[in-house]
Amino acid sequence: MSTKREAKLADGRDLFYFDDAGSILSADRKQDTRELDARPELAEMRLDVLSGEWISVAAHRHGRAFLPPAHECPLCPSHSGFASELPDNFDVAVFENRNPSFAQIAGASDDPHYWVEPKLPLGVVKPSIGRCEVVVFSPEHDGSLASQSLTRVRTILDALADRTDAIMRMPGVRTVFPFENRGQEIGVTLHHPHGQIYAYPYVTPTQEKIYASLSRHGNSLFQDILEFEQGSERELIRGEHFTAFVPFAARWPIEATIMPHRHVQNLTELNEDELAELTSVYSRVLRGVDAIYDSPTPYVAGWHQAPRFDGGENFRLHFKLTSPRRAADKLKYLAGSESAMGAFIADFPPEKTAAQLREVL
Ligand SMILES: [Zn+2]
Repeated sequence: MSTKREAKLADGRDLFYFDDAGSILSADRKQDTRELDARPELAEMRLDVLSGEWISVAAHRHGRAFLPPAHECPLCPSHSGFASELPDNFDVAVFENRNPSFAQIAGASDDPHYWVEPKLPLGVVKPSIGRCEVVVFSPEHDGSLASQSLTRVRTILDALADRTDAIMRMPGVRTVFPFENRGQEIGVTLHHPHGQIYAYPYVTPTQEKIYASLSRHGNSLFQDILEFEQGSERELIRGEHFTAFVPFAARWPIEATIMPHRHVQNLTELNEDELAELTSVYSRVLRGVDAIYDSPTPYVAGWHQAPRFDGGENFRLHFKLTSPRRAADKLKYLAGSESAMGAFIADFPPEKTAAQLREVL
């Protein structure tokens, strides 16, 4: 079990340290003494009346750090030549994003109906309420989540569960999504191993679709998927508490899901035995994805958790990883059919991806 310590950055943003079990770091940490500009204005949400979806428009995100040299990395611990976002050494650190797409404001509405516009009026703009945090997986600039020790992976899971619990209680927050974008190929702007947590004020389009499926199939949907994939050609790992598999209708050249056997809605509900097993299953899946080819695989991966609203409890926690990599030097791009029509054309059968992954797990 890791230890949490709370601090503040110079402009008032929250900073949390999560120290590994048995960490040798001192409890006292240096303060952030930088002179920082005032925090940017809140982004806005605009309603797209054709899709009925909310679009967050953040004018300030354009100026954020883009692939800085390693000695000016904002996620490495500060050193004599450069003051980063982390004033002192750490094992895992979490802090509020300096240029957030979603942030807390005074008087944020906590009414879920605030985001429902049944008649889709034109020109609707609302404040982009929520929260964005950065999760730094390691003080080391090189490496990845997959290259971390199991002790560290457990600290990362503890951090995600702790932050999910805290953020879910913030006014106006409906959904907490911890995720990782990995690889320059998919637009990562910092190489340092890190993930993010986005908290949204509404039930996202992806979740809306899952709730529509729950109402069509019935509340056993997640359990039925689990039992359908267990023992199939697509199963990757079957533990006592979790099963990893490539989904039956995977869209991407590499795709993997981890699903708990017990119906839990989010990471905060996992017990000690489940967390211990998940640490190992999570790490194995990520290492496997990186071992398919000679170089690291770009991916998007995240923890899908139940949104907070009455009636939302049939949503089961699951981890989903997707990668556009279809060969050592080839990526799948979302072209006409996928990006314009939302109609995916898979490059090869999910059973083949599963066979490739099982060889290296
Ligand atoms: Zn770094």
